[in-house]
This record gives sequence, C-alpha cells and structure tokens, in this order.
Amino acid sequence: MEHDLAVQVSGRQLCPECGHALVATDERFTSWCADCEWNVDPAPPASEPGRLAAVRRRLARRHGEELAAAMAGEGTNRPRRDAPSLLALGLALLVHGVTLALAVAGLLLVALGWETVVQPIGGAVLLVVAFVLRPRMHGIPQAGPVLYRADAPRLFELIDDVAAVTGTAGVHAVVVDADFNAAVTAYGWRRRRVLVLGLGLWEILTPRERLALLGHELGHFANGDVRHGFLICQAMRSLSLWVETLAPSRAHTVWDTLFNIMAYLPRCAAYGLLVLLDHLTLRAAQRAEYQADLSAARAGSTEGAVALLDRVLVADSVQTLMRREAVAAQMTGGAAGRAAREAAERGLWERIAEHVSSIPAHEHERLRRVSVRRGHGVDDTHPPTHLRRERLALSEPQPARVDFGDERAAAVATELAPARTTVARQVVTGLAR
Ligand SMILES: [Zn+2]
Ligand SMILES: [Zn+2]
Repeated sequence: MEHDLAVQVSGRQLCPECGHALVATDERFTSWCADCEWNVDPAPPASEPGRLAAVRRRLARRHGEELAAAMAGEGTNRPRRDAPSLLALGLALLVHGVTLALAVAGLLLVALGWETVVQPIGGAVLLVVAFVLRPRMHGIPQAGPVLYRADAPRLFELIDDVAAVTGTAGVHAVVVDADFNAAVTAYGWRRRRVLVLGLGLWEILTPRERLALLGHELGHFANGDVRHGFLICQAMRSLSLWVETLAPSRAHTVWDTLFNIMAYLPRCAAYGLLVLLDHLTLRAAQRAEYQADLSAARAGSTEGAVALLDRVLVADSVQTLMRREAVAAQMTGGAAGRAAREAAERGLWERIAEHVSSIPAHEHERLRRVSVRRGHGVDDTHPPTHLRRERLALSEPQPARVDFGDERAAAVATELAPARTTVARQVVTGLAR
C-alpha cells in the first residue's frame, strides 16, 4: 500500500527502533512508525475471550484466508450450499428429530400406559424435556424503537430497492438501536424479516456506505443464511442444554456416581456434536460474509463497501465516546443534571459523526495495520476484516445501483429522527447496551 505518510511527519519525534520520523502529531492519537511499525499496536488484547471463542477465532482466520484465496476467482453468483453446510443442516435436523422422538415417546407413555402410574410419570418427564429442548421462535428484538412500513415509508422503500438489487425481498420491521453494527434476523412463527440498525454505525456513514451496509445485511437474506442459521442455531442451543444437564455432579451418594457414569457417553456425544456443528458452520458462515460483501458492493459500489469496512475499524473509538458522553451526563444530579442530559442527547449523533470525521488519515492507516496484525474480525465468526477488504478490492469494481441522493437521504433522516432521539436518550441515560 502506498500512503503518503511522510507529509504528516512532525519532524521532531524519531522512531526509537529505526530512527525514522514518527507519524502523528495529534496528542489524541498514538505516535507510531510507518516504516518499522514501532508502537503501531501499543495495547494488544491480553487474552482471548474463552476457549471455544478462541478456537473459533483461530479457525476464522485460517478459513478466512483459504476462502479468500478460493473465492478470488468466483463471480457474484449465488453460493451453492457446500457439503459441510449440508452436513451441518442434516445434523441439526437429527438433533431436532431426537427432541421430536422424546415428545412422541412421552405422549405414547402417557396415553398407552395410563393404568400403570409409573409410565405416565416417565412420559410427563419426557414431554417436559422435549418442551425445554424445542426450537424457540424469538419475538421481535427489543433493543430499541421498532419501525414498520407505515412509520417510515421512504426508509422501507430504500430497503426494498437495495433488496431488489441483491435479489431478495425487503423487511417487515426495522429495529433501531445504539449498536455499532447492523444485523438481520427473522422472528415469530411466520419468520418475518427484521433489520436491526445500529445508529452508532449508521450515523457515521456516508450515503454510499449506508447502501453498502444495507446491501450486506440483505445479502444474508438473499443467500438463505438466516433460514439455515435458525435451524442450526437452535440445534446448538439444544445440544448445549444436553451438555449442561448431563454435566457430572459431585458424587455424594452411589446414585450420583451411577448418574455420572451413565451420563458420560451421551454427554461426550452431545459435546462432540456441538463442536462439529460449530466447525462445519463456521466455514459456511465465512463464505456467507464474503458473499454478503459482494451484495454490499452491488448496492453501494465497491468503493462504498471497502469504505464501510474501514469504518468498522473505528468501533472502539465511537464506543468510548458514547460511554464518555453517558458518564458526563450522569455526573450532575437534580435540575442541572436533567439539563445536562438533555443537552447531551440533542447533539449526540452529530458529535459522534464529527469525532469520526476528525480522525486523521494516519490513524485510519494505523487501525488498518492493527487489524491485519490482530486478524481483527467484527466478531468471532466473521473473516478478518482486512481479508474481506482485500477480497472486495480484488473483485470486479461495481457501481452503486441504488439511488441515495440528497432528497432521499433527507426524507429517510426525517423518518428516523424520532428513533434517533429515543436511542440518544438510551445512550445518555446508560440504558443502551
Ligand atoms: Zn521505525
Ligand atoms: Zn454479515
């Protein structure tokens, strides 16, 4: 990468490693060396967040690299489900099949063994177990204000346009929250589509980047990720419950010991299946992310999609600012405190956007380099951000296919205004997650 960092060199501070001048003159940001990368990542994370998450992150990096190479030659056509993801789906159905079998066995025991007393009791236990293990339909996410088509027709129209470009249909509801993220999911038995729009991210994006964000999220619907994700995710939940329930207890009596011995093999089986499902789905999930990035480019242009991935890297900075705003507003009590909170709410999103636009080029460059070093991913199932960026940069350049001009942007902003105020209040009063 050719970056003209020399221009920003202060001329005073020199690198203790290689003697070249350091970048960064702004005391808000880290001083680092663009030549030898001295101090580029002054505070690397101390440890990984847990065993399964650490394994997943390592695998995510490995798969991410393999996939990026393997997919480099592919076009934007839909992914065919590969063998691992079909196997995962089969295993998930098997897990749900066990739950169903328990329910059926329970019913039969109750119905056919009615006179025996013992059998109905056993049947009732099986029915309760099956009930606990059943796939659960979630309601609409409760993170913040919910918008339906009637509340925000222009926003839904924009989402429809992006959906059409990515080859799918729009959503039934939009949930607005404070997160530095966006997500799609389905809720209820009718599997209605919902888009969760995090204002922490949305508010710092340009129109083109917003199109890319919507394109990425709707791309997950287009690729069937949400549908498959549900069955597999519920199977994993069911397996986790098995593992927990069958966990060995401290042996006080001979019965405890007997239980521990009998539970050992089923527990190993459940745990093994859980790990297997996790591994099988990880690769598919990563492929899905690369595909969704291509949808992002189709909606908001390749440049927009790449710029969006650069934006993702300022997450920490935005989240720190939000926390600071919340703490500052809560410091004063009484009437003065209320005035302070109201003042903080009013310009919150503008201040965040202003802060992000004040981040100098050398800091963006440092964040990019840190992301390469750490293998930064949006979470532990996403491929590393720098690989997604590279993959996009290598794909055939796409123009933006959806119009998001000033008039439309203003209309959408007006529709989002009430939710914006509500979510700003959640942030300032510390109610946002
Ligand atoms: Zn140096
Ligand atoms: Zn995604």
